[in-house]
Amino acid sequence: MSAAEQIKQVRQRIASACQQSGRDSRSVMLLAVSKTFPLEDVLQLAQCGQTAFGENYLQEALGKITQLAEIRLSSPGTPQIHWHFIGPIQSNKTRPIAEHFDWVHSVDRLKIAQRLSEQRPTELPPLQVLLQVNTSGEASKSGVAPTEVLPLCKAISQLPRLELRGLMTIPSPTDDADTLRREFNECKALLEQARELGVQMDVLSMGMSADLETAIECGSTCVRVGSALFGQRPANNQQGTPS
Ligand SMILES: *Cc1c(COP(=O)(O)O)cnc(C)c1O
Repeated sequence: MSAAEQIKQVRQRIASACQQSGRDSRSVMLLAVSKTFPLEDVLQLAQCGQTAFGENYLQEALGKITQLAEIRLSSPGTPQIHWHFIGPIQSNKTRPIAEHFDWVHSVDRLKIAQRLSEQRPTELPPLQVLLQVNTSGEASKSGVAPTEVLPLCKAISQLPRLELRGLMTIPSPTDDADTLRREFNECKALLEQARELGVQMDVLSMGMSADLETAIECGSTCVRVGSALFGQRPANNQQGTPS
């Protein structure tokens, strides 16, 4: 299937899910997860109007970002892309993330947020960040425990070079809709509690190729879609290994 057909299908899935829940389809943003796929594939989707791309592995992402900057110098008509970092973050790798990305979905401790804020270049707009929440309990080690979310949101929202936009979650690896719903709803409830405490946040990054309908039903405003847009990844590269 061509890139144009793939993205049309995914946009259609988002629109139907929104319609089912009585939501405006413009309230859900599509993040195209391009990890393991070359810049060529990214540019094909960009030609179809897709502007936001997500990457998990820092070195791989920096390669594509640099390559795109070079292409844009020689062909200025090449679309601009907003890059979202969605993979695990090591604290000694925050500087290139602060310098080259527009968004980070995977902030999972205060130290990372502080470093990103300190290292965000002053000539760039504030880095848009999401706090990653571990809604699946023992099943996943990434993300902060639900009980830590509110104090961390308060602390991160004070950092000068970051704009805390919301929460992200990766649910348990299951296709059981009730389990997924419980975890997505927990994330949504935490966002609402933080808002009641005065932390301004508007983004819920939830849902991937297999579960975007359930996530939208539970209030997702950003679905992160890889394989449904780009095809299957090599089997050993499904999850984010530390960058
Ligand atoms: C790989 C990945 C995705 C995309 O997963 P698909 O199942 O291919 O849609 C979304 N979010 C994160 C954090 C990922 O690592």
